[in-house]
Amino acid sequence: MEKPLDRYSRQLLFPGIGEDGQKKIRQSRVLLVGCGALGSNIANNLVRAGVGKITLVDRDFLEINNLQRQMLFDEDDVAASLPKAVAAANKLRKINSEVEIVSIVTDVNPSNIEALVRDADVVLDGTDNFETRYLINDACIELGKPWVYGGVLASYGTTMTIIPHETPCLRCIFEEAPPPGTTPTCDTAGIIGSIVSVIANLQGTEALKIMVGATDRINRGMIWIDVWDNSVEKIQGSKLAPECPACVKGNYEFLESKEGTHTTTLCGRSAVQVSVRGNPSVSFPTLAGRLESVGQVQYNEYMLRFLVNGYEMVIFPDGRALIKGTTDESVARTLYARYVGA
Ligand SMILES: [Zn+2]
Repeated sequence: MEKPLDRYSRQLLFPGIGEDGQKKIRQSRVLLVGCGALGSNIANNLVRAGVGKITLVDRDFLEINNLQRQMLFDEDDVAASLPKAVAAANKLRKINSEVEIVSIVTDVNPSNIEALVRDADVVLDGTDNFETRYLINDACIELGKPWVYGGVLASYGTTMTIIPHETPCLRCIFEEAPPPGTTPTCDTAGIIGSIVSVIANLQGTEALKIMVGATDRINRGMIWIDVWDNSVEKIQGSKLAPECPACVKGNYEFLESKEGTHTTTLCGRSAVQVSVRGNPSVSFPTLAGRLESVGQVQYNEYMLRFLVNGYEMVIFPDGRALIKGTTDESVARTLYARYVGA
């Protein structure tokens, strides 16, 4: 027998959703890639709203400095060193036992993304790096699944909703990812918790609109908000870029792993190599300037050495890095995304 909808009574009263909308939400399957700052907020929102199924995928473990902005977690989760996807699932099951919650601790990559996306009605971006976002973009365009991009840093954030072949995709707007080492990350520029909640809640609302079929209401462009400056901008973007490699030409370069970062474990050395294809060039003075506040940095013309939290990262001008102190490729990719930025 179908479960009653009483717990959603306030949401049913909202004309944009109503009883029909609530039933559609209950039938919907969500894939959430990344369960950190944006992801934990999005999951909280959508599980309370009563989605049918949510799959949480994350490669990271909890640290104490996550609690400032990752609203689902507490000190017990950190003390237990739980993976974020697992800690989130435990909490979400207590919030709404009607929702089917699947947690997967893995690095989303070209070999597993299509299966994950195929099983979803809508995909949400809770990641912190462009490599994974381009991969989500490729898989969603190829499989015709709507997805909601979100990015946050310092006090500002952006979000954009992508309906494949109907609204501009991520590569229509940013054809290439910024080269490694050129953009700040939240580990170098910092972040305040409120912007995370703002962007995550916009992303969650866009997903609900997609689930209930209110695609006439979605954000067809890009919303940019700075909560410290009180500025809000809406950039209209209704047309696909005529030369877009993904949604116009159908070249799924990230899915085919022709671009992006690749990792190799270096046997017997407790180190992982992270390499970037496409020969980017890293400016050591710029990168060192960003990293000085978070760890110990030294460089010469051949390499930059960075010590942080017991890891040693050696970065080369072609964007390649050797990360010592781990043999786990997911940890190495996380450190690379966090400090070099890709
Ligand atoms: Zn496109």
